[in-house]
Amino acid sequence: MAAGGARGGAALRPRVLIVGAGLAGLAAAQRLHLGGIGRFADLRLLEASRRAGGRLRAGQLGNQKVELGAHWIHGPSPANPVFRLAAEHGLLSEEALNEENQSVEASDLPPGPWSFYGSRGGLLSPSLVASTEDFFDALLEEARQFALLLRDKGPPSVPSLGQYLKGQIAQRAAKEWPEAEAQRHLRLAILNVLFKLECSVCGCHSLDEVALGPFGEYTMLPGLDCTLPNGYESLVECIVASLPEESLLFDKPVKTIHWGGSYLEEATPGRLFDVQVECEDGEKIVADHVLITVPLGFLKEHHETFFCPPLPSQKIAAIRRLGFGTNNKIFLEFEEPFWEPDCQAIEIVWEDESPLVQPSMDLQAVWFQKIAGYVVLQPPERYGHILCGFIAGKESEFMETLTDAEVLTALTQVFRKATGNPHLKPPKSILRSKWHSEPYTRGSYSYVAVGSCGEDIDALAQPLPEEASYSKPLQVLFAGEATHRSFYSTTHGALLSGWREADRLIALYGSP
Ligand SMILES: Cc1cc2nc3c(=O)[nH]c(=O)nc-3n(C[C@H](O)[C@H](O)[C@H](O)COP(=O)(O)OP(=O)(O)OC[C@H]3O[C@@H](n4cnc5c(N)ncnc54)[C@H](O)[C@@H]3O)c2cc1C
Repeated sequence: MAAGGARGGAALRPRVLIVGAGLAGLAAAQRLHLGGIGRFADLRLLEASRRAGGRLRAGQLGNQKVELGAHWIHGPSPANPVFRLAAEHGLLSEEALNEENQSVEASDLPPGPWSFYGSRGGLLSPSLVASTEDFFDALLEEARQFALLLRDKGPPSVPSLGQYLKGQIAQRAAKEWPEAEAQRHLRLAILNVLFKLECSVCGCHSLDEVALGPFGEYTMLPGLDCTLPNGYESLVECIVASLPEESLLFDKPVKTIHWGGSYLEEATPGRLFDVQVECEDGEKIVADHVLITVPLGFLKEHHETFFCPPLPSQKIAAIRRLGFGTNNKIFLEFEEPFWEPDCQAIEIVWEDESPLVQPSMDLQAVWFQKIAGYVVLQPPERYGHILCGFIAGKESEFMETLTDAEVLTALTQVFRKATGNPHLKPPKSILRSKWHSEPYTRGSYSYVAVGSCGEDIDALAQPLPEEASYSKPLQVLFAGEATHRSFYSTTHGALLSGWREADRLIALYGSP
């Protein structure tokens, strides 16, 4: 007898509900639909918002579509399933498909040249910037290796990435930079920009929050990061088109997952279901299996009321310990560029800052100093003159509370000072993401915070009930970027996690 057979025919046509139609939910649905060979025809996705894609989302700035969520395919090479899928659907540029680009090891985002402006005005020396960047890259790589070395030997003496980096800088600065005091200060200010960039990459407020031990577990794939010319939503559209239209239910926020029960449904008399999903609109839908793909930020806020009975303590601890921070984008459209034609990114170096000095938390006064940098959207023939600023942490959450006019005024002043041009025209339009204020996301992506470890990611991914009895296994499953041990925070992590859980269900039922 196939598993589930004891539940009144569930084995014949199990009912599966997927909560969340982001990339993880869509990937799982597609795999079940196509890979289940008809077995999983009773499948529905319940999505809180009015659209599919979740953190893959386009916004409109003037005549241009821009990415408010995921931007790049990180490590676009054959090992990356998002790259493969996008390539199969013909969604990538020739340049991205170029084999040489696919073998490039970890690179800058985007590749240079970048322009570093000092906050007091004027461009900084490219050689000073380059050698400081090399120093920082080497330190980061050491931290990765150090973390891997220590993994099997117990907790490192310093718990966080930030503390490790700062310790190394304090020890080495005088030795490695035997130069004038002012020059050394400038290097520290440049390093502080690189700390902010790493905060945006990790999606954290400070590198002091990122656990050092598991830092090396995050895996980088080869390939020169690329974008999708028609946006990540073009990939979403391809997946959605492969699913039966009626399987997607929008505007359907789920309130509570009741699991470990025995629920009847009028339409299928005599059949018992283990799970009942209660929606915000009052509808109750019974199922054999429910796959949860909601963001960790949502789980952090709602797990106590989202599951009945409550989650096992290990899972709750993992939800609390793992990090989920905010990284936002600020798009600024200019009439004319103030940057050089070949410039790919702009950095503002706050010349009195240093990673060795605690930053001010007077957010009103300094929020904009946390902007890690501005990417120039390419190519200009398509985008015109658009900068995309990245800002992480508490300053990013504060930025969400401001008006567009307030942000524009603050940033115009910053650019005027940095370029030394008091008449620089303000940007003509602005568009921002506000991921922390999104009720069904509550931040941007996950990281392994101090106090947590890779095992917490595995605990989060573990299906319920934990001790699977033969008759009621896999009632509640978990996918989403935060459940992937080595690719968390990425689109390929999300996609793989969806496939992983679909395969778990397919394996449970065996071949049709
Ligand atoms: C600003 C930003 C930049 C990024 N840049 C990159 C990048 O360059 N490259 C990269 O690889 N990754 C990037 N990412 C990360 C990437 O976008 C995510 O890892 C990925 O999209 C997550 O997919 P997911 O399916 O796990 O979650 P989501 O896309 O968040 O999907 C979860 C879905 O669940 C829904 N939901 C939540 N609660 C409920 C509920 N109660 N009931 C029903 N539905 C619910 C949500 O509405 C959402 O649609 C970025 C993310 C952000 C925010």
